[in-house]
Amino acid sequence: VLQARDVTLAFGQTPALRGADLTVERGEILAIMGPSGSGKSTLLHCLAGILRPDSGEVHFAGRRLDTMPEQERSALRRDRFGFVFQFGQLVPELTAVENVALPLLLGRAKRSTALAQAGEWFGRLGLDGLEGRRSGELSGGQAQRVALARALVTKPDVVFADEPTGALDSLTGEQVMDLLVATAREQGATVVIVTHEPRVAACADREVVVRDGVVRSLDFDVERLAS
Ligand code: ATP
Ligand code: MG
Repeated sequence: VLQARDVTLAFGQTPALRGADLTVERGEILAIMGPSGSGKSTLLHCLAGILRPDSGEVHFAGRRLDTMPEQERSALRRDRFGFVFQFGQLVPELTAVENVALPLLLGRAKRSTALAQAGEWFGRLGLDGLEGRRSGELSGGQAQRVALARALVTKPDVVFADEPTGALDSLTGEQVMDLLVATAREQGATVVIVTHEPRVAACADREVVVRDGVVRSLDFDVERLAS
């Protein structure tokens, strides 16, 4: 279980989160929606142990993430979390297969083992033959699938995705989303996706809405907007 409790965080004078509460069950696929600037990315980064909140708590699998020493936290992120971002996340100097192997290499896997393991993803994600390309030589959808493979190659317990389909046309976005959901289900991973697209959110088990730095359930939000 992944949980944020009464989390607040401000960037200087700008409050981004003001008492955000969220519990994500193990194996659940959760979509986080909400207007631009409402605090979605900030919440994701707090849950993922990338940002430390000003107050409140973040728990993962019975451990406090927000107070954990940085070295321990980054090891936990590397070993148990996977990340997919909106764009610009592949290392341009590396080939596609090296990009996918990167988290394994950072976890000190043998280079040949890491590359072989990374290579297995290419067929599965419809990327056959693209192993040796650099990111500049991939289409947006291909690059996003490579990023997806990189997020999943370590078989993470939790995948965090911040608008993973934002830069793609809707068909390609849907395909990337389907792959993310299918692979996560196969691996039993928990998935937290920030998205603006209702169609993407519809793939999730549950949706929440962030407004002004606070998390609302979708039902609450619909009622509020209707009244
Ligand atoms: P979007 O849908 O546009 O990605 P968001 O919901 O992800 O928006 P956040 O990125 O979480 O929004 O930002 C929440 C608030 O915090 C905004 O007012 C934003 O301007 C501010 N903010 C976010 N990151 C920073 C930063 N690094 N420095 C200063 N202010 C920031
Ligand atoms: Mg954002």
